[in-house]
Amino acid sequence: MATLDSVTSDICREMDGKVFSMPEYEPGSTEPPFHVWCRTTTVPAFGDEFDHIGERAARDPDTGKTCYVPVDMKYQEWKEKFVDERNKSNAVQVPQIRDETIRKVNEEFSQVLHNSKSTPISDKMILYNEVTEYQLNEGMNGPFVYNPELDVIQYNPSALFYKSCDMNFVQAHELTHRMDIIEYHSWVNKKFLQAIEETRKKVYDNSDKIKEWFSEGGKYDTDIALADIFSSLSNGELNSILCGGHSPGYWLEDRTYVCMEIFADMAGIDVLEYDSKAEFYGILEELYRAYREVTG
Ligand SMILES: [Zn+2]
Repeated sequence: MATLDSVTSDICREMDGKVFSMPEYEPGSTEPPFHVWCRTTTVPAFGDEFDHIGERAARDPDTGKTCYVPVDMKYQEWKEKFVDERNKSNAVQVPQIRDETIRKVNEEFSQVLHNSKSTPISDKMILYNEVTEYQLNEGMNGPFVYNPELDVIQYNPSALFYKSCDMNFVQAHELTHRMDIIEYHSWVNKKFLQAIEETRKKVYDNSDKIKEWFSEGGKYDTDIALADIFSSLSNGELNSILCGGHSPGYWLEDRTYVCMEIFADMAGIDVLEYDSKAEFYGILEELYRAYREVTG
C-alpha cells in the first residue's frame, strides 16, 4: 500500500495494490522498502469479498490534508480521479496554510518559482511547493527545518534568525531536502560523492580568494548558501572566513549531511539565480555537473 500523494515514487506507484503470497516475501523486491525513505507499507490481503470494504488515507491535492478514498482504489485510479481531473479544470493549487505570516511568505515564494526559468528541478519544486505542509514548531532552535519523520516543513517565527532569513532561499532549501529524500537520493549518488571529494581540495587551494569573496564588501559577502557549501566542503574549518555555515560538529556527525546540504544549497542558488551561480562554472564546476545529472 503506497502513500497516495503527488510525490509517490515510480516504483511505489507501480507496486501499489499488488498482492503476493508469503513464500514470495522478499524485501526490496516484493516487500517494502523499495528505496531509501520508502513510505510504502504492507497490509494483509483477504481476497475479493473483503478487499473493497473500508477506506484508505490519501493526500487531498487541493488542501494538502489527509482524506479518505475507497480501500480498493489503487495509485493510478487515485491520480486519474483526484489529480489529473482537477489539473484539467484548475490552475495551480497551493496548500491552505492557516498561519497568516507563513502563508504570505509561501505565496511570494510560489510567485518567484513561477517566474523562474523552467528547468527540471524548478518545475519539480513548483509541484512540491503545492503539496508540502508547513507546521509551527516553537520548540526548535532554527527558523526552518524539513522534518522527514513528519514529512512537513517546520518553522519557528520566534527563532533567533527568523527575521533575517532570505525566505525564498530557506523554502527552496527545505523543499529540496524533501525532494532529495523522496526522489533524488543525492547522498548515495556516486558521482555526486566523488565531486564533493574532488572539490574539497580546490576549496583549500582557493581559500585566499574565498576569504576575499566573504569579507565586507566582497562579492558574496552575504551569500549564506555559497558559504554553507564551503563550510561543508571544509567540515566547518573555513567557517571563520565565511559569513555563515553549519558547525564542524554537524558536518562530522553524519556524512550524508554534507551531501544533502550541498545539494539543497546548490538547488537554492540555481532556482533563485543567485550571483554565486557563476561559481557553478568555476570552483564548483564538478559539483554542478554531478548535480545536473542527479536532477535530470
Ligand atoms: Zn538544510
